[in-house]
Amino acid sequence: MPIYEYKCPNCGKFEVLQKITEENLKECPKCKEQGKSVPVEKLISESSFVLKGTGWYETDYGSKSHSCSSGKSCGCKGHCNH
Ligand SMILES: [Zn+2]
Repeated sequence: MPIYEYKCPNCGKFEVLQKITEENLKECPKCKEQGKSVPVEKLISESSFVLKGTGWYETDYGSKSHSCSSGKSCGCKGHCNH
């Protein structure tokens, strides 16, 4: 079952497990619990790869700059090449 990502203007991004045949969410389930009807926006998500793939976190975290062995923050993506 794929994971879909939605954005709620009230509580931010959240993920929902839905069947492919299921309809898109139209309002935020969390806000709905509080009696509010907040329309959500569906995001193009790569989250379904989390279930299948390994190394998804590398692409996620590797895109940020990090402290390399020299102690400075460098712009290397994932692996220091200097
Ligand atoms: Zn919400």
